[in-house]
Amino acid sequence: MDFILATNNMKKLAEMQRILSPLGINVVTAKMLGITLTEVEEDGKTFEDNAKIKARAACKETNMPAIADDSGLCVDYLNGAPGIFSARFAGEHGNDEKNNDLLLEKLKGVPENERTAHYVCAICCAFPNKDEIVVRGECNGLIGFERDGNEGFGYDPLFLVDGKSFGRYTADEKDKISHRGKALRKLCEELKKVIE
Ligand code: IMP
Repeated sequence: MDFILATNNMKKLAEMQRILSPLGINVVTAKMLGITLTEVEEDGKTFEDNAKIKARAACKETNMPAIADDSGLCVDYLNGAPGIFSARFAGEHGNDEKNNDLLLEKLKGVPENERTAHYVCAICCAFPNKDEIVVRGECNGLIGFERDGNEGFGYDPLFLVDGKSFGRYTADEKDKISHRGKALRKLCEELKKVIE
């Protein structure tokens, strides 16, 4: 069965395929189908809202089951910011360097015990018959005092789990404990129930 993934992020596609292919699910992107999905405004107030907005739109447009995710970093000292605005924290969409600089600046002088944070990933799978599955995965950590490591993306060089930066975790190590890995495994469990 083909599912459309509402992103052209190849890393996400590979991760989804790895986890969902044992269920007989083939995940494809719009690009692979030779179509372009209409851009939707991600104006939800929660990660789940935004994942639903993207999945519903892709499902409606293609009449295929559609999967979309929304993720970000929530820092306790900043009352949950950057949250759903993680990709554009410093104003420019997807500028990881600027986002990390701003995060370090906002946490200047904040002691280690107040630098707690968590990543969140919400995934929605929307079916043409209007059924929906929504799952969430979280990963707790601490924001470091400086960047460390070159693995991963986004805030990973500043996100510490068990004293080690996500910038130093291999992809496999990160998958096992990450917000996205957890959400994907939950999605897999829910899809098993629907498909069987
Ligand atoms: P999106 O859900 O792909 O739009 O990601 C939103 C933003 O959250 C990214 O641009 C990153 O800044 C941040 N983010 C989400 N997941 C991760 C992660 O696993 N590592 C680092 N940053 C992440």
